[in-house]
Amino acid sequence: MTRRQARSGSKVEEKPASRLSGYSAGALLRQGLRSTPRWKPAWRSHDLRDSYDVIIVGGGIHGLATAYYLASRHGITNVAVLDKGYLGGGGSGRNTAIARSNYLTPEGVAFYDRSVKLYENLSAELNFNIMFSQRGHLTLAHSDASLRTMHWRAEVNKIQGVDSEVIAPEEIKRLAPALDVSDGPRYPVLGALYHPPGGIIRHDAVVWGYARGADLYGTHLHQNTEVLGIDTEHGKVTGVRTSRGPIATGTVVNCTAGWSSLINDMVGVKTPIVTAPLQAAVTEPVKPFLDPVVVSGTLHVYVSQTARGELVFGASVDPFAQYSTRGSLDFIESLAGHVLELMPGLSKMRLLRQWAGLCDMTPDYSPIMGPTEVEGFHVDIGWGTYGFKAGPVAGEQMALLIADGKPPELIRPFGIERFLAGELVGEKGAASVGH
Ligand SMILES: Cc1cc2nc3c(=O)[nH]c(=O)nc-3n(C[C@H](O)[C@H](O)[C@H](O)COP(=O)(O)OP(=O)(O)OC[C@H]3O[C@@H](n4cnc5c(N)ncnc54)[C@H](O)[C@@H]3O)c2cc1C
Repeated sequence: MTRRQARSGSKVEEKPASRLSGYSAGALLRQGLRSTPRWKPAWRSHDLRDSYDVIIVGGGIHGLATAYYLASRHGITNVAVLDKGYLGGGGSGRNTAIARSNYLTPEGVAFYDRSVKLYENLSAELNFNIMFSQRGHLTLAHSDASLRTMHWRAEVNKIQGVDSEVIAPEEIKRLAPALDVSDGPRYPVLGALYHPPGGIIRHDAVVWGYARGADLYGTHLHQNTEVLGIDTEHGKVTGVRTSRGPIATGTVVNCTAGWSSLINDMVGVKTPIVTAPLQAAVTEPVKPFLDPVVVSGTLHVYVSQTARGELVFGASVDPFAQYSTRGSLDFIESLAGHVLELMPGLSKMRLLRQWAGLCDMTPDYSPIMGPTEVEGFHVDIGWGTYGFKAGPVAGEQMALLIADGKPPELIRPFGIERFLAGELVGEKGAASVGH
């Protein structure tokens, strides 16, 4: 494979968005003057080629970001992204879009911090407003033990240059006046980890922005194209079988989040993944009153307010492994109870809807990224409840892995071999509810 762009070490230069024009004030004015605006589709449909250099399975943020960075950073464009449904129909269109980098391990902090940095520039790079709103992120501590963990996280964060500190209840009240920080509740708020760069993003805009970007570089995006099998010869990938016919390729990347073990099974690559549903819910819109994202691990709940005024709630994964994405009454009942413990003033709010997505959980709450024992079969999986914020960095690093043929420094700790070596990257304390 050829690479057009010069790089030094694992650092990748930012690429100007010269190709990604088309959306501009002038174009808006021209289209606005037509009786029927004629915007070009954001991406095209194609016939399947007989072969591609790289096949990416999964058209969520990870697959699309990988395709975009392969093309924009490395000039690798004979690439297909295959999705059995529609782009963003998996976790990427169902998540609550929280981004942050205040993790617990040095490896996790460095990795997610790179993603926040890429997100900060992504609207400009893709020429697509992803609505990244860095309104701050509060993780509440309701016990001495969790306050200790918050201090620990704050120190790990600060050493790596990530803005993060423990704050007292008075300061929490100033940032989020609706929170009850008195000593009345069953679990009083003792403090919080405050992370100003954290915030929320418009998830479907990110998916569409990467899809449009990858398409403009010539990548083929195939929706309604299910991967049914992966062919290998002498331990090497040779092609994939799809619902639209076979395709030859030497490189397959598994970016299927909640379905990743089914794809791995096609080549016999085992991982310690358990798939569980994660539910979320949204209220009717109300006047803006909640600025930061608020998370309580003890109460198993988090909440943010969207630009439209809706409150978006979430929790930790359902306590059983399954592939169903039905919402449950249990979830909504316990969620409502916990939310009211935090913000009693919300008792009259009406929920609009609830939904669920699939999450592939690993034992250490960190992803699995890199090559596998099958030559040409790479994984970008195990994204649990925290993979949306990681989309940009994961795409960037997977593209670098494919172009270079070896795992870049930033993702080496997340290799599949860590489970055999017993070198887990334990992020449960920072990722189980906060996502
Ligand atoms: C309710 C909820 C809230 C969440 N909140 C957050 C959050 O606040 N912050 C955060 O960072 N993360 C969050 N997450 C996690 C996040 O959504 C995921 O980790 C992330 O979207 C995974 O992206 P992906 O591109 O890897 O996979 P997905 O977006 O799930 O895409 C995988 C794609 O693979 C396709 N596919 C599967 N099998 C096949 C096959 N055989 N052939 C072809 N295609 C196939 C699917 O159709 C799907 O479109 C949340 C998840 C849920 C469910």
